[in-house]
Amino acid sequence: MVKICCIGAGYVGGPTMAVIALKCPSIEVAVVDISQPRISAWNSDHLPIYEPGLDDVVKQCRGKNLFFSNDVEKHVAEADIVFVSVNTPTKSQGLGAGKAADLTYWESAARMIADVSKSAKIVVEKSTVPVKTAEAIEKILTHNSKGINFQILSNPEFLAEGTAIQDLFNPDRVLIGGRETPEGLKAVQTLKEVYAHWVPEERIICSNLWSAELSKLAANAFLAQRISSVNAMSALCEATGADVSQVSHAVGKDTRIGPKFLNASVGFGGSCFQKDILNLVYICECNGLPEVANYWKHVIKINDYQKARFVNRIVSSMFNTVSGKKIGILGFAFKKDTGDTRETPAIDVCRGLLVDKAQLSIYDPQVSQDQIQKDLTMVKFDWEHPVLLKPASPTALKQVSFAWDAYEASKDAHGICFLTEWDEFKTLDFQKIYDNMQKPAFVFDGRNVVNPDKLRQIGFIVYSIGKPLDQ
Ligand code: NAD
Repeated sequence: MVKICCIGAGYVGGPTMAVIALKCPSIEVAVVDISQPRISAWNSDHLPIYEPGLDDVVKQCRGKNLFFSNDVEKHVAEADIVFVSVNTPTKSQGLGAGKAADLTYWESAARMIADVSKSAKIVVEKSTVPVKTAEAIEKILTHNSKGINFQILSNPEFLAEGTAIQDLFNPDRVLIGGRETPEGLKAVQTLKEVYAHWVPEERIICSNLWSAELSKLAANAFLAQRISSVNAMSALCEATGADVSQVSHAVGKDTRIGPKFLNASVGFGGSCFQKDILNLVYICECNGLPEVANYWKHVIKINDYQKARFVNRIVSSMFNTVSGKKIGILGFAFKKDTGDTRETPAIDVCRGLLVDKAQLSIYDPQVSQDQIQKDLTMVKFDWEHPVLLKPASPTALKQVSFAWDAYEASKDAHGICFLTEWDEFKTLDFQKIYDNMQKPAFVFDGRNVVNPDKLRQIGFIVYSIGKPLDQ
């Protein structure tokens, strides 16, 4: 029986390995992590991450051919294929601080693999890493082990949180990069055979190592760039009376452009887009390509600008002050169908409103109060503009309360803000919400989840990103 071990039981390691276990009953899969609470949660009825369909997949194979464990060394030693799916955040100190990927976790995983291995292994980069990382990993592995054959593959993950299981069941493509040597090609073939259990052959793409590593950064940069492009257009729409939804529809009908990923919003979030673009910027700078670096930097600049613009719009609409005014924050996760708040625009928007002394009542169906408090007070690395990124002080937290639902969050509020596009927000009883709010009652829709015309008929003053404004 082939044995797979995955180091890192996070948003990527957990779901990807659960799907491999489900689709390949003949393979034994162990997911290991240094975090005890995370592994306990994977072994319980309350999985550590919220992802539609995940519970079901885990229940079907946990204890059969899928295991979660803190015994990292034992499972790595026994495995034929070791995936490494540890976090690769942005470096916060030293050389490359604020841009370069922090490979500390990766390096310690690689050293441990070299230490405990007694047989040949395929080591797979699942984490998103800078191009040429495999070269460093090869050095660490070969210099620290005694003649063991390691083949390094790059197999970046393209799943999106919120649709991870669907994406893993039916991927647009699976990318495998390897060395173009007989051993490298053999390793690529072995991994290909794993995916071939359920992924059609034409969707499994093989490339050299560096192309695979760079493709992941490129894909995230292109996706984020699309969001920043439509968000930049949304600002122009507001200034001119055009409607960004109509513009996106018309633009997306061009088959060269396509309709996906053209929704204007308060900005992109999530743990990957900003981190991966900064990483790309750093790589460009290190390779003497400052103009290319500047090009990608602008994608993040527009994202920061969009968040700042949203806060400014709220404050200016509410007669230039939100001091002491209750504002209901509806949604805190960075997108619907996830409880993940990493880099969510809600952090910057809430911090901006707290600086202006607003009273916030926050509701999100999947994010805990503890998480929100942590997010608002953590020191967040400011890559360029300090204004919105200041952490809320512990005293500012006195301005924050938490609500059980959207109705409680909006009761007696002067305004409500939609920051996540949860489906449940589309079917709220807005007449009831309006009746219980202060007047004039403002709606600031950062995700274009509500129908502004219907809300205006009720009496709300509505600001929707990229849409014509109230007169
Ligand atoms: P995560 O923080 O949720 O999980 C990483 C896990 O690795 C943590 O549980 C941590 O405890 C564990 N870990 C760190 N060092 C370890 C070690 N030495 N031994 C054992 N466990 C260790 O991160 P994630 O969101 O799953 O992302 C992992 C990687 O995948 C990152 O490089 C990320 O950029 C990339 N990625 C993420 C997504 C996403 O949507 N989250 C999508 C594609 C790619």
